[in-house]
Amino acid sequence: MPENMTGAFGRNVFNEATMRECLPKNVFKSLKCTLDGKQPLDPATADVIANAMKDWAIEKGATHFCHWFQPMTGSTAEKHDAFISPTSDGKTIMEFSGKELTQGEPDASSFPSGGLRVTFEARGYTAWDCTSPVFVKEDGKNITLYIPSAFCSYTGESLDKKTPLLRSMDALNKQAMRVLRALGNTTANRVTATLGPEQEYFLIDRSFYAKRLDLILAGRTLFGAKPPRGQELDDHYFGSLHERVASFMNEVNNELWKLGVTAKTQHNEVSPAQYELAPVFSTVNVATDHNQLTMETLQKVALRHNLVCLLHEKPFAGVNGSGKHNNWSVVTDDGVNLLDPGDTPHDNMVFLVMLCAVVSAVDKYAKLLRASVANSGNEHRLGANEAPPAIVSVFLGDQLTDIFEQLAKGSAKSSRQGGELKLGVSTLPPLPKDCTDRNRTSPFAFTGNKFEFRMVGSTQSVSGPSFVLNTMVADVLSDIADELEKADDARATAQKILQKIAIEHAKIVFNGDNYASEWVTEAESRGLPNIRSTVESLKSILSKENLDLFSKHGVLSEHELKARTEVLLEAYSMQINIEAETMLNMAKRQILPSCCVYSTQLGNAVAAVSAAGVGAETQTKMLKHVCGLVATLEQQTEALEKVTAKAASVEDSEAQAESYRDDVVPVMAAVRAAADELEMVVDAKLWPLPVYAEMLFVR
Ligand code: ADP
Ligand code: MG
Repeated sequence: MPENMTGAFGRNVFNEATMRECLPKNVFKSLKCTLDGKQPLDPATADVIANAMKDWAIEKGATHFCHWFQPMTGSTAEKHDAFISPTSDGKTIMEFSGKELTQGEPDASSFPSGGLRVTFEARGYTAWDCTSPVFVKEDGKNITLYIPSAFCSYTGESLDKKTPLLRSMDALNKQAMRVLRALGNTTANRVTATLGPEQEYFLIDRSFYAKRLDLILAGRTLFGAKPPRGQELDDHYFGSLHERVASFMNEVNNELWKLGVTAKTQHNEVSPAQYELAPVFSTVNVATDHNQLTMETLQKVALRHNLVCLLHEKPFAGVNGSGKHNNWSVVTDDGVNLLDPGDTPHDNMVFLVMLCAVVSAVDKYAKLLRASVANSGNEHRLGANEAPPAIVSVFLGDQLTDIFEQLAKGSAKSSRQGGELKLGVSTLPPLPKDCTDRNRTSPFAFTGNKFEFRMVGSTQSVSGPSFVLNTMVADVLSDIADELEKADDARATAQKILQKIAIEHAKIVFNGDNYASEWVTEAESRGLPNIRSTVESLKSILSKENLDLFSKHGVLSEHELKARTEVLLEAYSMQINIEAETMLNMAKRQILPSCCVYSTQLGNAVAAVSAAGVGAETQTKMLKHVCGLVATLEQQTEALEKVTAKAASVEDSEAQAESYRDDVVPVMAAVRAAADELEMVVDAKLWPLPVYAEMLFVR
């Protein structure tokens, strides 16, 4: 690949360049208008496009096509159909119509719908999202044309992660354009949210994975004593890449580049066996599709190297978990990044309005933003003294905080500058210094020309947090636009709006250490919410202001938002149930039996040593210790069985999720504690599970 990397990039994508080549001029022009958001797709041109796509895909070896969509499971779904169409003379021709391209009709009853669909109401539709390019994907010998699609029910309600995202992009475009026009911008015609999601993941040897039912079924280790070494040496982050891992990354990149995914940055992460991949940013819906492809490719390619890629937010206790850092900004179609401060941000009015709109939105909808990243896996990260805490705050840095404070006093008159850094070595050049330091602990940090939302979980679709952010910001911009549009002097009015925001929302700005315990107290005194529990967070979604927010901007109806919340609560319960059942299975079928074998061995040793006429005090002591722990493990296992059955029988989804959290999770912790203590004393040859040290350090 390297010698012709540019040629290989996007080779399997039906992108704009390919379309220009394959499509008649007028068809391409009409499609381009649709892509630019100017008109819906003309059905007459759909047939021509479909035919060109089919020829292109068949040339690449494709035999099938599929609508590729994103149900509320958070992952993707696809159903393949061959291009073949039998003819009357017993032969077949390859066909693909405009209708097949633009609309699919999968059975909607087997996807989570939160009550929007009952099983007998099966009909659902998928619709081609032409703003995300069609591509060909190779899975083993199977080659298929993938059509990124939105998914809705027979009644038109969204059942997926893409539809609300596209709707939120429209909302943000509409409100940001109103503000731009009111401030005198006449050149931009469209505003888009951009996203660069950094993806963290773990890699472990496949042979260990195969022996751990918890990793296979629940994605994380439910047992495992603290190893003698963890991440305390700080030597993994940015460390040199191990050869096997580097080869894996090389293959991942090649696969992703073919699919047009701009995989760019790769490095070792903080925990041993943890890594990161970041793409170059793109429009948020394309970035979302590409992040799904990235997660899938990481997992697929890992197997080829006898590795397994773990995407879970917390595969291992005691070392860092994985997240996604969602780098988000807003750009115009004429290439202006509205969050680019420029050299003198204090007199960049559009930037100041955008910045203040984001700060205000994050403060106003902090609970909603928190809820957009709430799942059972992320609960182990947020507020657990690593990654970002569960308290939402905004890092602005020295320069912008200074400007924000000036705004609160009326207007901003100056911008602090960065200067130069001299290293005191004659051969090293002076380095231009940024005007602010970085802050790795903030959940929502301004990083130069974008915001970085760091609370997103590593398994999550980036759609949820993105459509929430887009909608929140659109909402504040719409209030700002209302005032600017009726003002005689828009700039003077904007100045007043900025002042008001800087005063009212100063409490959300925090540049200090977000992991410090003092911050928890300080945040509380500022009145900032600190919601550590997933269930609590999900329960906050259905407030009146959130229902109003989503319906006002046409992103989700009340019905749709309720259904989504239901899906999320159910997912929490199901995940904990799977974990508890897996734990029971492993405790009863693997750990307890092994411990019994070991206690028998010890018992035999006691008998043999005593029979030989030597005191067996030590053996007896060891036996008693093991038997005591086994008894505790057995009792806790029995207790877990009872509480899990109890939680499973609760009908109401909110009450059920609470029961899993309050009744089941603490007993799971007790089961684990007893088993982990046993792991430290039972003969290693008898221990049925690979241990942390092996999984984290053997490469
Ligand atoms: P970090 O130092 O924060 O780990 P990385 O280089 O790993 O930074 O990732 C930064 C991410 O931010 C990349 O995906 C990059 O493309 C993205 N990014 C840069 N500019 C923008 C922008 N204007 N909008 C959205 N994302 C951006
Ligand atoms: Mg990074």
